Amino acid sequence: MNDNCIFCKLANHVFDTNIIYEDDDFTVILDVNPATKGHCLILPKEHYENIFELPEELTAKAFRLAKKLSSSLREKLSCDGLNIVQNNGEIAGQTVFHFHIHLIPRYENDGQKIGWKPGKPTNEELAALKEKLL
Ligand code: AMP
Ligand code: ZN
Repeated sequence: MNDNCIFCKLANHVFDTNIIYEDDDFTVILDVNPATKGHCLILPKEHYENIFELPEELTAKAFRLAKKLSSSLREKLSCDGLNIVQNNGEIAGQTVFHFHIHLIPRYENDGQKIGWKPGKPTNEELAALKEKLL
């Protein structure tokens, strides 16, 4: 546990919070400033800053849990959709540097918008990028 990390303290019961699920590896809490009703955060109990640091095994478990809780949220909250958001690094919007997955239930007319400005690369640019990434 990292003594300077708020999510370490929430995930390991040092501070009280609204826990909606817990197992040996993860604590899932309600976001204190939710985008929508039911916005929650999957927190590993161990401190890893981001997806680059998170061990592969725990990453697999985290996304398996995201799948399970997504279904459970839909059933319990009757949401119309759900966004899974996971930010890594300040430039990507991460503000708490302890890996977490956002589950954000979506409702018709919830007034939220999660998105980006679509780019317009040329076919050549896409082809060059594909070569680089292969
Ligand atoms: P991110 O920008 O991806 O790092 O997300 C951090 C999230 O943590 C934000 O949605 C915050 O509202 C949420 N958050 C910050 N502090 C707390 C807290 N003490 N309890 C619950 N959620 C928190
Ligand atoms: Zn931490």
